[in-house]
Amino acid sequence: SNVISAKNLTLAYDNGRKEIIKNANFSIGKGDFVFITGPSGSGKSTLLKALYGQIRPKEGSLVVGGVDLASVKARKLQELRTHLGIIFQDYKLINEWTVAKNVVLPLMIAGYSIDVQNTQAHRLLKHVKLAEHAEKFPLELSGGEQQRVGVARALAKNPVVILADEPTGNLDDYSSNVIWDLMENACQQLETTVLVVTHKIPTIFSLPYRHFIIESKGVYEVH
Ligand code: ADP
Ligand code: ADP
Repeated sequence: SNVISAKNLTLAYDNGRKEIIKNANFSIGKGDFVFITGPSGSGKSTLLKALYGQIRPKEGSLVVGGVDLASVKARKLQELRTHLGIIFQDYKLINEWTVAKNVVLPLMIAGYSIDVQNTQAHRLLKHVKLAEHAEKFPLELSGGEQQRVGVARALAKNPVVILADEPTGNLDDYSSNVIWDLMENACQQLETTVLVVTHKIPTIFSLPYRHFIIESKGVYEVH
């Protein structure tokens, strides 16, 4: 079954005057792993923004988890976002909070007990190899470690879809490998659908995957 489906999707900025993606059609199923590549400025980040509802389609439909983002109301969009794990290139951590507290932010928002939060913080930080850094603050960590915190946070609620924009962009090999491993595991073991914008598909990647290219306003699948 489709988790994401786009029909005649057009995305634009400047009140619709500046079209970035035009008439795109694609569908993505549960457990699919999709790499998105394309020239700089082609619209990769724009597509991710549309998928988490930061920009609204100009034309066509974009359905994520049964919700059409072309017509969704604010409250429904908020609910949808609780099922998305979003990983940003610039981490977007809260620097005044400990690493552990950053990781369980989605669980706090969902109203889980402190006990559950503590247990999950420990489990998640173990997965990203940061167990010993739980009580540190983000700025005491390297860039790679901060991004692993971001990945742990994205996985905290076992999201239906992970959306990642250049997650390993400027990271060291160790952190990059930890992150690719976690995404592979989530996809394989939990059937999480994963979309990753990257400039380079990792050679260590061991799962079957799909490859979309964004170019000249189109979204094309490479076979
Ligand atoms: P990519 O991620 O492939 O590098 P982007 O999706 O970031 O590309 O950008 C696609 C195009 O949209 C670029 O020409 C960029 O300058 C433009 N763009 C991005 N954000 C905005 C915005 N908020 N307003 C107007 N144009 C934008
Ligand atoms: P351990 O805590 O000893 O790593 P688990 O039973 O918790 O063992 O996990 C088994 C496997 O499942 C590990 O490879 C782990 O990376 C993976 N895993 C568990 N939970 C998640 C998650 N939320 N996201 C991604 N991978 C996970």
